[in-house]
Amino acid sequence: MKNNRTTWPKDVIARYVTMGGATVEVKADKSTDGHASGSCDGCGHRIAWGRAVHVCRDAHRHAETCRAMSRWTAS
Ligand SMILES: [Zn+2]
Repeated sequence: MKNNRTTWPKDVIARYVTMGGATVEVKADKSTDGHASGSCDGCGHRIAWGRAVHVCRDAHRHAETCRAMSRWTAS
């Protein structure tokens, strides 16, 4: 069974736990220094590619409001 919470791939630079217990993951763009994009594994929301600092801020903001539960934590 895939466990998305314990694996931490090298390109993941930040993770935020949402209200619903899902994870918003920010991944670095290896081809463009200092840039990243993100996605929420609870609701599928995607955070647009951009400067990593902005993507992290948006990911944090989404995590504070998203109540979707991660499919990885649902039984
Ligand atoms: Zn979400």
